[in-house]
Parts: sequence; C-alpha cells; structure tokens
Amino acid sequence: MRILLSNDDGYFAPGIAALAQALSTLGTVTVVAPERDRSGASNSLTLDRPLSVKKAANGFLYVNGTPTDCVHLAVTGLLDELPDVIVSGINHGANMGDDTIYSGTVAAATEGFLLGIPSIAISMVAAGRDNFDTAGQIARGLVERFAREPLREPILLNVNVPDMPFNQLHGSEVTRLGKRHKAEPVVKSKTPRGEPIYWVGAAGSAADAGTGTDFYAVANGKVSITPLQMDLTHFQQVDRVRGWLRS
Ligand code: MN
Repeated sequence: MRILLSNDDGYFAPGIAALAQALSTLGTVTVVAPERDRSGASNSLTLDRPLSVKKAANGFLYVNGTPTDCVHLAVTGLLDELPDVIVSGINHGANMGDDTIYSGTVAAATEGFLLGIPSIAISMVAAGRDNFDTAGQIARGLVERFAREPLREPILLNVNVPDMPFNQLHGSEVTRLGKRHKAEPVVKSKTPRGEPIYWVGAAGSAADAGTGTDFYAVANGKVSITPLQMDLTHFQQVDRVRGWLRS
C-alpha cells in the first residue's frame, strides 16, 4: 500500500513523525509537508511563485508552500506512483466544527479527496499530554480498513482524537460537525514605532456541541469521525433566491 502523509504544522512536527511511525508497517510511507507551520492556511494554492522540494535527514520531503500545495504537487507529478491513501496530521489541536474551514490539516486531506484519493485528516484535541501514539493507532486502524475493503468512491474523513492513552478512550463515534460561537475579538497592540497591529483572536467556544456532534463525542472521551463533502451549495435556499429573479 502506498501512503502519502502531509500536515499543516510543518515536516518537523512531532505529530507527523508519530503518524509515519504508526503507519510504517502498512506499506510505503512518503511524507510531503510544509517547511514551516502553515496552520490556518485552508485550501490555498501558491500560484505567484514556483515551489521547491527538499529532503530532510529523516527522508521527509518538505515544500516551501501550503499543505494543499504539498498534496497537489505529490499527486500531480512529484511521486512516481499515485498514493492509495492520504493521511494529514496528526495536527496539534482540534479541528472540529467551523475549524474545518480554516484548517490546513483538513485542506491537505481535502486536496487528496478532490484528486480522487481516499483521505483522512486526523487531529489531536490537545490537552498538553501529547498522546500522539493514540491518534497514530486510530489512523492505523482506518488505513487498515481501507486496505481490507477498497472503496469504490473517494472518501474524506475528519478525525479528532482526545489526548489520552488509547486504553482510556471510550470508543469511536461517527459524528456531524458542530458549530462554534463567533471568534474572540482581535488582540490590538503596537509596533515599537507606535503603529497599530492586530493578532487574530482565538476561535470561539462551541455553540452547537449537542449529541451527535464532533464536540460532544470528544468531550465524552470518544474519537470523532466525520465524513465530509465539498459541495457548499445551500440547497434549502436555492428556491428562495431563485424567487428573487422572478419578482
Ligand atoms: Mn496545525
């Protein structure tokens, strides 16, 4: 099995090393990841300059681009053979609810999905205990399933794993995305020359975290698995907006 790994935290992040380790005996693992932390890069492609690929001492390839660039490059010409599965992560921090819109971790997996390859984004809901091996085992289980039962259509899974030892997990649950409150305000500051600067504030807390959501599963010690799709059409509003054209 050919397995391509990427992430948004950078090729040097402990999460991607743990992922490579966990999947190493399932097939050929290739890592193509950004050269620096690109968390929050979403689905951006670099179109205004060329990209270069370098190899780290441990064999990981790194690119001076975004997570989407990495997977796009790997699948459309860098690799000699197409991967059978793409896994992005293990992200340092949750990607639940609206986080999925901004996440570079989810974006790398989305790029694989859009290119027709089964893809998994996996994130650890960081609690400072760094149980990356737990998330590694979860990723391994999913990839093993893909190997056993080849899929007839591409699939995109968003997986969030509580930061705890594997034997303390309360199982896994298939979920829908929850929602967060609107983000915290920007943090205002000044440069040494007195010019105003702004830090984007923290993500809001969970607003829809009810039963069935990713937030709920993780809060109850369960691995959350959400199948995602990319069609953003708001079907319930189609008729209403169509009506505007008639009036
Ligand atoms: Mn990240």
